[in-house]
Amino acid sequence: RVVTRFAPSPTGFLHIGGARTALFNWLYARHHGGEFKLRIEDTDKARSTDEAIEKILDGMRWLGLGWDGEEIYQSARAERHAEVANLLLEQGKAYRCYATPEELAQMREQQRAAKQPIRYDGRWRDRDPAEAPEGAPFVVRLKTAQDGETVIEDAVQGRVVVQNAEIDDFVMLRGDGTPTYMLAVAVDDHDMGVTHCIRGDDHLNNAFRQRALIDAMGWDRMTYAHVPLIHGQDGAKLSKRHGALGVEAYRDEMGMLPEAVINYLLRLGWGHGDDEIISREQAIEWFDLDGVGKSAARFDFKKLENLNGSYIREADNARLAALAAPLIAGELGHDLNENERDLLQRSMESIKPRAKSIGELAEGAGFLFRTRPLNLDEKAEMLLQGETPALLAGLVPYLEGLPDWSEEALDTAVREFAETQQLKLGKVAQPLRAALTGRATSPGIFDVLTLLGREESLARIADQAG
Ligand code: GLU
Repeated sequence: RVVTRFAPSPTGFLHIGGARTALFNWLYARHHGGEFKLRIEDTDKARSTDEAIEKILDGMRWLGLGWDGEEIYQSARAERHAEVANLLLEQGKAYRCYATPEELAQMREQQRAAKQPIRYDGRWRDRDPAEAPEGAPFVVRLKTAQDGETVIEDAVQGRVVVQNAEIDDFVMLRGDGTPTYMLAVAVDDHDMGVTHCIRGDDHLNNAFRQRALIDAMGWDRMTYAHVPLIHGQDGAKLSKRHGALGVEAYRDEMGMLPEAVINYLLRLGWGHGDDEIISREQAIEWFDLDGVGKSAARFDFKKLENLNGSYIREADNARLAALAAPLIAGELGHDLNENERDLLQRSMESIKPRAKSIGELAEGAGFLFRTRPLNLDEKAEMLLQGETPALLAGLVPYLEGLPDWSEEALDTAVREFAETQQLKLGKVAQPLRAALTGRATSPGIFDVLTLLGREESLARIADQAG
């Protein structure tokens, strides 16, 4: 039985690295028919906000990373964490440390001066607690092994060995009786039945401490898989500048489809041969930990954009129109009515081949909703100079006379006209496009004509013809 978990700290948003960790855990559980659990690590009350929790849940829902059972709030489990620490205390596997902060600062100062590693020196490990002053505050530390080594066979990093002397007697309960992060994670993972812990490799050091605690309790060990962090194009750790934004920014600001983000994140640090476009079903079928790379993946926004473009081309027109509609409504300053919504949906087929974001879809469809006379942009204006108005005037009779306003009929008529003028089709299509859309780029000209319809098309042409 496989149980994985995603354990975000709700101190900001669900950033792209966290989303990938969630995805890998989700896929691993789904691949093995196991469970994927969500634990909110909200013990840092000062930094955890309800808003951040909501953003994480929202981001996961958007990405389709559903979790099994209710989400677990770490802060609600403080008593259980303390119980485990006290149990270890009773068994002599943990001890009270009465060292004062000043004393510890001094210890570190001396270690620094002597160029020794900075770590707790175990000064209360074997001391009699009776030596402490009456009522003095204490922390509870785990008694970790001093000799030998700890080996973790990490499913991604391989065999990682740490000398036990390097693992200090870390604090489990603070002076005020609250659990430390290290204690909370180990206890929760055990109580949740986690079998596979897949997370960023910035937690690899913690794994040795958590393993020590798990062993001290005699609990079942779990498999660790520490995934290299995501870096920016320049090789530096991912920052905002590189796209380390919340997933909602990918949705709301960059106009990404969730399946594109998922596909991109999947390929970021995991591979299945040369496959680039991988569906969710295939990902579930193929995902394993062997395919996770050992070196940091580089975030490549262009690649993500291109993937988004391919998913947009495959996406259902009604869905795309629904996503683009609010952007167009924002431009227009009013909601779209039913006719406009219908028009937008019909336009998607010809607009989506070139769009890499929902924003570009909305932009591409913008011409449909402009009001006459059109505002021409600079390039469109250039295209409508000189002889062009006369040329358009010459074209009008060819179009007016058409019995049906179909793509085929329009195509034939415009070509016929171009021939009589001894012009290439483009020489007619370009100014025609400018007149119809006010821009120099648009979907195919015959799509534009049919989407706008006879009346609106002829009126827009007439506005520019002379
Ligand atoms: N809460 C930790 C974080 O957000 C993750 C802890 C873990 O996965 O063990 O970085």
